[in-house]
Amino acid sequence: MDIEEFRKNGKDMIDYICEYLAGLGERRVTPAIEPGYLRPLLPSTAPLKPESWSDIMADVEEKIMPGVTHWQHPRFHAYFPSGNSFPSILGDMLSDAIGCIGFSWAASPACTELETIVLDWLGQAIGLPKEFLAFSEGSKGGGVIQGSASECVLVCMLSARAQAIKKLKQQHPFVEEGVLLSKLMAYCSKEAHSCVEKAAMICFVKLRILEPDNNCSLRGATLRQAMEEDVAMGQIPFFVSTTLGTTSCCSFDNLSEIGPVCSDLDVWMHVDSAYAGNAFICEEFKPLMRGIEHASSFNTNPNKWLLTNFDCSTMWVRDRFKLTQALVVDPLYLQHNYSAQSIDYRHWGVPLSRRFRALKLWFVLRSYGIDGLQRYIRNHCKLAKRFEQLVLKDSRFEVANDVKMGLVCFRLKGEDKLTQELLAKINISGQLHMIPSLVNSRYIIRFCVTAEHATENDIDFAWSVVSDMAAEILSDPNNRQRRQSLLKRRLSFVRSVSRDVFQRSNSRSSLYDGCSPVIILDENDMEIKEDVFTFAPMKEELNEEIKSK
Ligand code: PLP
Repeated sequence: MDIEEFRKNGKDMIDYICEYLAGLGERRVTPAIEPGYLRPLLPSTAPLKPESWSDIMADVEEKIMPGVTHWQHPRFHAYFPSGNSFPSILGDMLSDAIGCIGFSWAASPACTELETIVLDWLGQAIGLPKEFLAFSEGSKGGGVIQGSASECVLVCMLSARAQAIKKLKQQHPFVEEGVLLSKLMAYCSKEAHSCVEKAAMICFVKLRILEPDNNCSLRGATLRQAMEEDVAMGQIPFFVSTTLGTTSCCSFDNLSEIGPVCSDLDVWMHVDSAYAGNAFICEEFKPLMRGIEHASSFNTNPNKWLLTNFDCSTMWVRDRFKLTQALVVDPLYLQHNYSAQSIDYRHWGVPLSRRFRALKLWFVLRSYGIDGLQRYIRNHCKLAKRFEQLVLKDSRFEVANDVKMGLVCFRLKGEDKLTQELLAKINISGQLHMIPSLVNSRYIIRFCVTAEHATENDIDFAWSVVSDMAAEILSDPNNRQRRQSLLKRRLSFVRSVSRDVFQRSNSRSSLYDGCSPVIILDENDMEIKEDVFTFAPMKEELNEEIKSK
């Protein structure tokens, strides 16, 4: 493709994107295909000779689009929003065209400098303590863009681990690092995202998962008691991952209580606010951050709820020197004359190579202004409240979370199976897409407002689908028979595992991704013998049940 062909095809691509996004509402939200659908549609080897642009684009529409889940669809209510906007797409296009790799200041000065400036802008808008901002007077802190919230948690845990080992080594110079490592203990709530568990696996440290209170909030007294017990047993607390806006129900840990506990024991407190943190740009949500002054680090994902395309996970630290001590390696070929005066972001994370991600965030912040972004967040929160009211008015249903932002957790009153069946029916229809979770050990459906321009009509439509399908389920006397037939439908968002695999699996993370229901199939005839939708906390009960049969 030469530059003139690129000019033409690029314009055609913009037209295609506009038509795709404008016509999204006409498509099913989730694809009606089975695993392996694509293999027979494509050749088994890459083409030897160049193919025409029009042939490639024809295949996009005919072969790729039928397998796409449309996250920008007005009736996509699963997970959290996947950030997307025209300024962001254009910013990323430019970043791709520049194609620089900004691992050091010298490798592309604007790439580094814009990142530091934009992170200060966003940090100020969120209301982070000034110690987190790179340009505040006397600051040792600063912000960085990582690829994901999981990376933010990992990098902070690695740094906390390095700090803890360094301190212990001073106290016990003749004890091996490996021995000191075996004493380290990290903490989080049961409601924390599974990425904390993964980070602890990678860091090779123990993780104690604590019970939150009835509002799914981790409290200071619970943490203090756990840490005191562990210290008495010779363990060394070094890291706490708190959450503001949990994945399952958007609950908030109590930082004002947890912070002083961490300070007393000299423990690194990280705040994971992947979704909800974006809303702190609105004054009315800032009180939910109370206690942030105790934090060592904080992350939020503009690529979730601030109209910025993946990947853009912003992270700030109070002390960048503590962060980088765990991550600095400095071969000669990466050194430059300005190291002392500039930031080299390769020391702030796992990868060496980095894209120019600050461009898209800069485009978004400038195109919408903080005002426009606040309007977007407030619209989602208002629409979530509208959905909550519709649920509350219907005596068949109950709301299972304290709706503060764009997420409503709800269920049909009674047995969990009714809600499981309702969700399966909704998702199979392709009219809406939602995912389940567990709140206070009850199966719930998560309804999240996600589309940039979501309207009251979208909310009312979603409710009418939920309400009508609930009526069908509750009025059907042959409930169980129909459930069997629903479950036999294989769906990409339901995981089927054999009973054998289920019984052999000891690791929570190997089976559960935190949101997809698991159906257990019988080994012999691959018929569903048991219509079990289940989640990690229910697994032990199920194992007992299976053993007793
Ligand atoms: N933390 C929280 C609170 C989340 O809700 C999520 C994902 O939804 C994550 C972490 C993981 O995010 P990522 O996919 O950016 O690693």
